[in-house]
Amino acid sequence: MKKVCVLGSGYAGLFSAANLLTDNDFKNKFEISIFDKNPYHQLLQQIHLVTAGIKKTSEISFPIYDLMKDDVKFYNEVVLGVNFNENKIITSNNKEYNFDYVIIALGASNAFFGIKGAKEYAQSFRSLNDALVLQNKIRDMNEDINIIICGGGATGVSLAGALCETFKEKIKITIVEAQSDILPEWNSKLVRSIKNFLKQNNVEIITNNPIKEVRQSSVLLNDNRILENTLSIWTAGIKGQEIHTIPEIEKTKSNRIKVNNFSQIEGFSNAFALGDISAFPIDSLHLSPQLAQFAVRQAMNVAKNIIRREKGKEMVRFHFEQHGSILSLGRKCIGIMNGVIIKGSLCGYVEDFLIDNYIATIKNRGRGISSLAYEQHKLSQISSSLSFIISTASKILSSD
Ligand SMILES: Cc1cc2nc3c(=O)[nH]c(=O)nc-3n(C[C@H](O)[C@H](O)[C@H](O)COP(=O)(O)OP(=O)(O)OC[C@H]3O[C@@H](n4cnc5c(N)ncnc54)[C@H](O)[C@@H]3O)c2cc1C
Repeated sequence: MKKVCVLGSGYAGLFSAANLLTDNDFKNKFEISIFDKNPYHQLLQQIHLVTAGIKKTSEISFPIYDLMKDDVKFYNEVVLGVNFNENKIITSNNKEYNFDYVIIALGASNAFFGIKGAKEYAQSFRSLNDALVLQNKIRDMNEDINIIICGGGATGVSLAGALCETFKEKIKITIVEAQSDILPEWNSKLVRSIKNFLKQNNVEIITNNPIKEVRQSSVLLNDNRILENTLSIWTAGIKGQEIHTIPEIEKTKSNRIKVNNFSQIEGFSNAFALGDISAFPIDSLHLSPQLAQFAVRQAMNVAKNIIRREKGKEMVRFHFEQHGSILSLGRKCIGIMNGVIIKGSLCGYVEDFLIDNYIATIKNRGRGISSLAYEQHKLSQISSSLSFIISTASKILSSD
């Protein structure tokens, strides 16, 4: 049996494990071990909905056993490092585990860029636990809460959307973004639509003004403006999780592990890095986006390639093209598909459909709509579109 160690049970880790189990003839040839500091899989891109009380913790986190049953071994341990020379991983309590393949999918943590006071005074927002801490803080505060969200990427903007829905009566939100616009690198038509939504909901947006310092109850901007606040929340940047390796491997300035077009770590053909922790070359100028939809598709490709290698076949390069994007802003969401903006109930149905089917595809060991939707073959895409139409129609009929 080939031992596969999957480090991290987020989108990338769990989807790669599920897809390694797709091939019935082959699944008994792998012993898959998953390691995570938490005993559950969390839908990180939905934690703002928990803060806003729109979803319960149980709707966005799933015990690993419920998803994977006895098909994998799960170790609830902190991963400290990987020794590529000896094919071993090292976890807390100095435990060591051997592998034939290792998949590093530990995600990312906050990056503070050395900004004074950011770590000390801004509330972190990078896990389900952070989401619950933030919810309690806001609930405990009285009227007129002035919130500064430091960073206008997907995390900050979705949090602003959800908070202004639930706590409309008592909070005023300002998003501060260092770059010239919020949601850098997102489709400009989609960004315009999201900005209109935020303005209608009284969210102030300050752009082109990097934060110089975060203080206990204010934020100092580059143009020396001081924004007084009750609470500041840090969503301004992320870096790859720390992991010690022997030998040292190449990483970007933001601590992401450099990989080739097969997501392999240079020099180690049995070692892969996936998701937010990986720096995958999209083209000669761009690295992979740190998005769940990228993590999931990269994971499928790596699982298929490991199976291909074991069958003595050539591996297939991974190509990433974004078919569409959706940003959840509380109960509402706004998205774009093939250049067309979608809003309202249709957008909500697409979002629910994607999440329900993502979980179903994991439970079904990589077989399902999430995989079909990401396949390049037209037939698979038509089949997943049909499933979407049927599921949407039945939701509309049952909501009457
Ligand atoms: C509020 C918010 C909104 C977002 N919105 C979107 C969106 O609209 N669309 C989109 O595509 N993406 C969105 N994202 C980004 C998306 O969630 C990430 O890109 C995705 O989670 C990356 O998946 P991953 O598997 O690489 O990492 P993660 O999902 O972060 O999983 C990493 C796992 O590793 C574990 N771990 C970390 N360190 C250790 C350690 N040392 N030992 C053991 N276990 C460890 C963690 O517990 C976790 O389970 C959003 C993120 C946030 C926070």
